[in-house]
Amino acid sequence: MGEPTGFLQWKRTTPKRRSIPVRVADWREVYEVFPADQLKHQAGRCMDCGIPFCNNGCPLGNLIPDWNDLVYRDNWRDALERLHATNNFPEFTGRLCPAPCESACVLGINQDPVTIKQVEVEIIDRAWNEGWVTPIVASHKTGKRIAVIGSGPAGLAAAQQLTRAGHDVVVLEREDRIGGLLRYGIPEFKMEKRHIDRRVEQMTQEGTEFRVNAAVGDNVDIDVLVASHDAVVLACGATQWRDLPLPGRELTGIYQAMEYLPPSNRVQQGDMHDTTISAAGKHVVIIGGGDTGADCLGTALRQGAASVTQLEIMPRPPEVRAESNPWPQWSLVFRTSSAHEEGGDRLFSVNTDRFIGNANGTVRALVLNEVTLVDGKFVSVPGTQRELQADLVLLALGFVGPQKHAWLDQLGVAFDARGNIARTEEFVTNVPGVFVAGDMGRGQSLVVWAIAEGRACAAGVDQYLMGSSTLPVPIVASARPMA
Ligand SMILES: Cc1cc2nc3c(=O)[nH]c(=O)nc-3n(C[C@H](O)[C@H](O)[C@H](O)COP(=O)(O)OP(=O)(O)OC[C@H]3O[C@@H](n4cnc5c(N)ncnc54)[C@H](O)[C@@H]3O)c2cc1C
Ligand code: SF4
Repeated sequence: MGEPTGFLQWKRTTPKRRSIPVRVADWREVYEVFPADQLKHQAGRCMDCGIPFCNNGCPLGNLIPDWNDLVYRDNWRDALERLHATNNFPEFTGRLCPAPCESACVLGINQDPVTIKQVEVEIIDRAWNEGWVTPIVASHKTGKRIAVIGSGPAGLAAAQQLTRAGHDVVVLEREDRIGGLLRYGIPEFKMEKRHIDRRVEQMTQEGTEFRVNAAVGDNVDIDVLVASHDAVVLACGATQWRDLPLPGRELTGIYQAMEYLPPSNRVQQGDMHDTTISAAGKHVVIIGGGDTGADCLGTALRQGAASVTQLEIMPRPPEVRAESNPWPQWSLVFRTSSAHEEGGDRLFSVNTDRFIGNANGTVRALVLNEVTLVDGKFVSVPGTQRELQADLVLLALGFVGPQKHAWLDQLGVAFDARGNIARTEEFVTNVPGVFVAGDMGRGQSLVVWAIAEGRACAAGVDQYLMGSSTLPVPIVASARPMA
């Protein structure tokens, strides 16, 4: 531990966000540079508590106290080595992770926790800037061929681990670019896509092969794929969205979040000049109070929406942990993302009853009412029904599981009771040699879980092919998914 009294000397600080008028005028990431001396103090707040609960709070089992100490001592290269020992893509998690580690930080029992996520992202950003992140080419080849279907964080982590173990790995992606939801779901202002591109470049130099516009079940036959590879990893995500089949749902102007966000991301990639679904000048209502809804909010504001309102059926969370939600659990408290800070209204404890249209079939408003929770059920509050103007409605209600395409039946994989691909603790499905990782087996989750599962799945594949494996398995990879 670098500084025994660091947590007494320095308060938690996080980087400033760029000013709102400036950042909504562009699509770049919202944070300003964090001064190195401040980061050193933040790392120095880690108090070497003996049993680092943060370590277990992180699905990857990141060695957090180790790298805090190394950063405090200015030993950045060793910090990078410790970080990469458990995490293939810290630049993704350091930007996107909700940081369950910080909820589990022992300092968080009675003070603000260590800014773990910030230390993580600073280590990896410095490493890229200094040229320390280089390809790691396997010292021997096994001759085994592996196909990974899907190039989200789970598929990428599995592919990198397996390539480094000496296998010949090909990643098949149905879209025209690599990255999964990181590429076309998550907006540029949360993570600029250059971070994916340079990882793909590194992986290509390590020997991973990437094939885009390769849609299994469409222009790639699953039987041929299985027959020509020693193992197959399914990492196709859980992209089957939840709908809201209310009266008026058929009106024009009501879209799923994942219909709205991808074309906007394509504009940022330079594929088109204008998005096909724009919020410019519109009164936008987002149904769903989670992260996907916040991504829609930030996108709508940058497109010049006249107003944005985000609806959430659950009550507004408390400012501090409730007694029923003790440390080191994930803290269920009111959070304000950068997009929320930028504008828009948030309404809690409201339910949508129906949509109302104009004569030309476009949406004009929705009807909502307040609700209260009685014995675990939502009950309408009498007299609270009202109309809310809406020219664009975005549904951000989560995802129900993987898309049930015919090729999965052709392959013969079984599904679990929740509709995800069933698997063992070694991430193998009921079909020998076919594995599954990430949201496709876990259900809609987080980037950090996708990477953890990709790593653990790679170890399972390696064991299956070689009879033993030295690939690391995240210590908590088989734990229950977070809500
Ligand atoms: C809008 C949005 C914002 C989010 N924000 C965050 C966040 O801030 N932080 C966080 O931790 N998590 C966030 N998530 C969740 C996170 O993105 C996912 O949990 C994670 O991407 C899952 O990774 P995955 O590799 O399992 O699947 P995915 O990222 O979904 O990737 C699956 C890939 O498989 C491809 N594929 C599917 N079928 C086929 C086929 N037949 N042939 C070839 N390829 C196929 C898909 O095109 C896709 O590229 C967000 C999700 C959404 C939708
Ligand atoms: S990946 Fe997430 S949980 Fe793990 S250390 Fe980083 S921010 Fe914390």
